[in-house]
Amino acid sequence: MKIENPNPIQWQFSERAQQLQSSAIREILKITQRPEIISFAGGLPSPATFPVERMKAAYDKVLSETGKQALQYGPTDGYAPLREWIAGYLSTPDCKILPEQILMVSGSQQALDLLGKVLIDEGSKVLVETPSYLGALQAFSVYRPDFHSVATDEHGLVPSSLEGLADGARLLYALPNFQNPTGRSLSLERRRELVETCARLGLPLIEDDPYGALSYKGEPMPRMLNMNPDGVIYMGSFSKVLTPGIRLGYVCAPLPLVRRLELAKQAADLHTAQLTQMVVYEVVKDGFLDEHIPTIRSLYAHQCQAMLDAMDEHFPKEVTWTRPEGGMFIWVDLPKHIDATKLLDQAIAARVAFVPGAPFYANDPATNTLRLSFVTVPPERIREGIAVLGKLIKDQL
Ligand code: PMP
Repeated sequence: MKIENPNPIQWQFSERAQQLQSSAIREILKITQRPEIISFAGGLPSPATFPVERMKAAYDKVLSETGKQALQYGPTDGYAPLREWIAGYLSTPDCKILPEQILMVSGSQQALDLLGKVLIDEGSKVLVETPSYLGALQAFSVYRPDFHSVATDEHGLVPSSLEGLADGARLLYALPNFQNPTGRSLSLERRRELVETCARLGLPLIEDDPYGALSYKGEPMPRMLNMNPDGVIYMGSFSKVLTPGIRLGYVCAPLPLVRRLELAKQAADLHTAQLTQMVVYEVVKDGFLDEHIPTIRSLYAHQCQAMLDAMDEHFPKEVTWTRPEGGMFIWVDLPKHIDATKLLDQAIAARVAFVPGAPFYANDPATNTLRLSFVTVPPERIREGIAVLGKLIKDQL
């Protein structure tokens, strides 16, 4: 029996909820999913790389052999064999990572939320790159920090710009490998300088690294984590090396912090799906990623090159862009007077889409920037879409 509602609820949302906004990208993606549009907008990995059969076999094996355990509640910190595997994966000869330092999370996006929850109070000073990963800005924003932007140049974050800026800051959030959105990477010297500077200033450094394994040359750069495991918080993800739909990531942090993160996770969702963790352990434990990741790298490298070649051919000389050596994104700087959001309207009318760069800035957005992703579009469509974009840009010069 349905009860009458004589007094309709006047929802009183918390101040926090009133401030929540949908990410600009998710809104754009709704439009760009139409099949006639050549979309360089998405940040989605290529489904061609998803190891469906391998996952299917692993689900089958885990459910047949250890189904009761896989379908039960599990510990908050995660499935122990997988945490051990990750600790081994992150260890180097002179820096051993302990399984106790690893907390499994439901996508590394959850690590951003948990880090915000345990490290940020309202008004806390939080340092981010210019530009930075939009999803991190969104996750931290819930805790109402005061964002300060750290300078970047064509080589990525500029460590010397932290002097003075870091006073009283709670953390620095950095993306050293094939950054989302710019595709830029920090050189080895810059990594060392950054880790040293943060250590000297007593500033916790978050190293968000979902793309590090996708180096086209196949030689991943050293992690900052291994340069200073007491000062660096490392975030990893299975989204770009297996599949994002399983929502599995991890954070590696110094013990006092990881215990706090664990408490925050316990309150949020008890634990990450046990079945998923057991399946991923089954998939990775015998070295599957060593054969799988090179196939992702070569696909992305090929498509990245197709896009760079098309840009060389069709973009006017007034436009500049990054030349990534891994990952999924190219970043474009247009002449100052061109507003990428307006350009997007014209591009969509011409059936091409990208993401304007402005939402990736915590402060002072550069409206003449945009992000292109090449991973889900085949080379001939890349050439077609870039030719259209090049013409639209030239028309505005
Ligand atoms: N960090 C960065 C830099 C990302 O680009 C993404 C996903 N696009 C994430 C974190 C979140 O990844 P996931 O939650 O799928 O692990």
